[in-house]
Amino acid sequence: MDKIMALIDSRDPDQDEFKQAVREVLSSVQPVLERNPHYRQAAILERMIEPERVIIFRVPWEDDTGQVRVNRGFRVEMNSALGPYKGGLRFHPSVNLGIMKFLAFEQVFKNSLTTLAMGGGKGGSDFNPKGKSDNEVMRFCQSFMMELQRHIGPDTDIPAGDIGVGAREIGYLFGMYKRLRNEFTGVLTGKSLSWGGSLVRPEATGYGNVYFASEMLATRGDSLAGKDCLISGSGNVAQYTAEKIIQLGGRVLTMSDSSGYVFDEEGISQEKLESVKELKNTRRGRIREYAEAWPGVVYTAVDTFKEYNPLWNHKAHCAMPCATQNEINARDAANLIANGVFLISEGANMPASPEAIDLFIDNKLLYAPGKAANAGGVAVSGLEMAQNSMRLKWPRDEVEGRLRHIMREIHRTCLEAAAAYGMAGNYMAGANIAAFVKTADAMLDQGVV
Ligand code: NDP
Repeated sequence: MDKIMALIDSRDPDQDEFKQAVREVLSSVQPVLERNPHYRQAAILERMIEPERVIIFRVPWEDDTGQVRVNRGFRVEMNSALGPYKGGLRFHPSVNLGIMKFLAFEQVFKNSLTTLAMGGGKGGSDFNPKGKSDNEVMRFCQSFMMELQRHIGPDTDIPAGDIGVGAREIGYLFGMYKRLRNEFTGVLTGKSLSWGGSLVRPEATGYGNVYFASEMLATRGDSLAGKDCLISGSGNVAQYTAEKIIQLGGRVLTMSDSSGYVFDEEGISQEKLESVKELKNTRRGRIREYAEAWPGVVYTAVDTFKEYNPLWNHKAHCAMPCATQNEINARDAANLIANGVFLISEGANMPASPEAIDLFIDNKLLYAPGKAANAGGVAVSGLEMAQNSMRLKWPRDEVEGRLRHIMREIHRTCLEAAAAYGMAGNYMAGANIAAFVKTADAMLDQGVV
């Protein structure tokens, strides 16, 4: 483990999030390497931490005043041992190579857990869609795709959405790909329903997250009915995490955005959630407006990365972080535990710091890492690819049934792998071990490539 971390430090000393993601996996797979020396002989770890290919490119575009602007585009094709590269695109000012590599690395493990044939990748840009007109977003997406189209394809690399990339952006990206390549294929997932999208894809990450949480509760003979839940974020993952909790009889107390959070003691009903969807997806407004629209709701402005986030300091049973990486630090974790929270299910990727995760595990909370709990999104992306290849569209019940089944399988796989290595009930260890072994064995089968 020290050798691998030293290798990354010497090559990429400033890639903190990538180092954090690798360290977390290494801490779990140490016993696997001890039992299986052939993985070391084949330098599996050294190969897993080195992307198969990284593409960095200039994205010039013109804003509405005629000013030319320049952003940086990325695609990290991390590992194709299990299938074509698959993973989202993120448009956010914080995007850099280290963040892309952390997300691509996580994606390899997540995709492995889905049971579908998908390798891992991730991409995006430091472009900020917030405050841009639709035409500006379209020109940016078209310029981005002008370069990306050389590297992707329905059997090579299939991007999807992530932070800042929703249905609007996928539409513009797909339109440009189609024009440049003169082909209508499943090269992107998360497409609109009327032109190749899958039913339940918008809901899949959030619903899958809640299915995973339900499976964890079931191991203690419990369910989400009557549980108070804290959710961060108010984007795609947060909205559908909230929706499924409401459907299963739980109470959603909070939602947030990068400016602050709302606390609704009465609980966010389906009707109120519809207003969040309209606010965020159509009007592209701020969550503060929810508190202005509904009586009895308290809005608190927050800087997510300050000493602690008051969102995580309310009495509740469950917490579902669904915004961004490292949004729960050790102090937040201590607050959650002190407030009676006993289940954490990560809708976001790597939302908890390593110290926070240690606290969850040491205190025997039901803790689901994002690579397991939020894998439902990419799983239904995989189902979208299958439907596109067959030129068929499955009904809602069929897709949702398959999603449910996949989440149940991931849960079982995590528990079995953890138990096999003497860490019963540790979902993080189980997810890392199961995903590592499957990917490593495929890499061994395929030789030194
Ligand atoms: P969206 O862009 O739809 O929503 C992101 C939400 O998080 C918004 O409410 C946003 O607030 C908030 N947010 C973003 N950055 C920050 C920040 N720095 N501090 C506080 N809040 C922030 O993205 P998604 O819902 O798609 O993604 C959320 C998380 O889930 C990410 O970690 C993503 O990688 C992960 N994920 C997404 C999947 C998917 O299918 N979409 C699949 C698996 C994981 P604001 O509106 O102010 O920007």
